[in-house]
Amino acid sequence: MVFILKPNVEKEKIEHFILDWEQKGFSTILSVGTEHTAVCLIGNTAEVDLDHAVQTNDIISYGKRITEQYKAVNRTVHEDNTIIRVGDVNIGEGYFTVISGPCSVESEEQIIKIARSVKDSGAKILRGGAFKPRTSPYAFQGKKAEGLEMLKAAKQETGLPIVSEIMNQNQIDLFDDVDILQIGARNMQNFDLLRAVGEINKPVLLKRGLANTIEEFLMSAEYIVASGNNNVILCERGIRTFETMTRNTLDLSAIILLKQKSHLPVIADPSHAAGIRSLVAPLAKAALAVGADGIMVETHNDPAKALCDGAQSLDLLQFNELMADLKIRAAVENKEIA
Ligand code: PEP
Ligand code: MN
Repeated sequence: MVFILKPNVEKEKIEHFILDWEQKGFSTILSVGTEHTAVCLIGNTAEVDLDHAVQTNDIISYGKRITEQYKAVNRTVHEDNTIIRVGDVNIGEGYFTVISGPCSVESEEQIIKIARSVKDSGAKILRGGAFKPRTSPYAFQGKKAEGLEMLKAAKQETGLPIVSEIMNQNQIDLFDDVDILQIGARNMQNFDLLRAVGEINKPVLLKRGLANTIEEFLMSAEYIVASGNNNVILCERGIRTFETMTRNTLDLSAIILLKQKSHLPVIADPSHAAGIRSLVAPLAKAALAVGADGIMVETHNDPAKALCDGAQSLDLLQFNELMADLKIRAAVENKEIA
């Protein structure tokens, strides 16, 4: 952390400032330039409140962190890309992993039908929400525990690993047979939940919050990894912008930056980003082109009758066409569809 001091600060005040930090256990480097004087703090600055330090000391012009606060997910401490294995499926470097299925599990018949079809098209992981975080408390809230049973039946039937959203840490036991725990956008900063899934050794698909920065997203992943679970997949699912024609705006730059900053795999969710079926396939291809390690796409056997998110769901034929297209494009990108 470095503090740039205001011009012409008296020597005594600078000495007092330095002594103060040294008494708190930091080493300091004082650099007196022709234009500016800087004081560098060396030590564990993670607990230092930078804004507070700047605002409460009138000799400081401004302060800046030099190293990022996220450490465990940072590429600088872990150069190689993390590859996460779920059963026979790889997620990360060299692969483009496709997760597909309905927004919510509606019946055993529905989920098995979709699972069989998306598997035939080439999807490697089945999604299906059982506990649904809905804006309105009156909207369909999911089939809950029963829905998880249906999803498990589809896993048994097809052999596809399954991913489903967990809403709070009390549900962890219910998710025993679920292969990947999804933490939804609305829970990205539920720190108790992040810590709890960090303490178990199961892959976590962490979605970016509706209005969270890339740094906040990485800090949430840091909670999980720092708690002991390295198996985190980051998912860019679109953010809130001023645009009203789409449900959200898919932040393609975030996919690129997340991969530059972190060693964790990054996937895109073009369905929730767009909210509109006709945008899903083009956005999925865009995600592949900018380096995403995979996508999660909502599909439904009869989108018009879906209990949740029908307008953004591909039907099974549309998904099959998308997969055929992605296979060609993945080969160009030197990635295996996984
Ligand atoms: C979902 O995947 O169905 C979902 C609710 O996503 P998000 O948390 O990104 O809104
Ligand atoms: Mn959905």
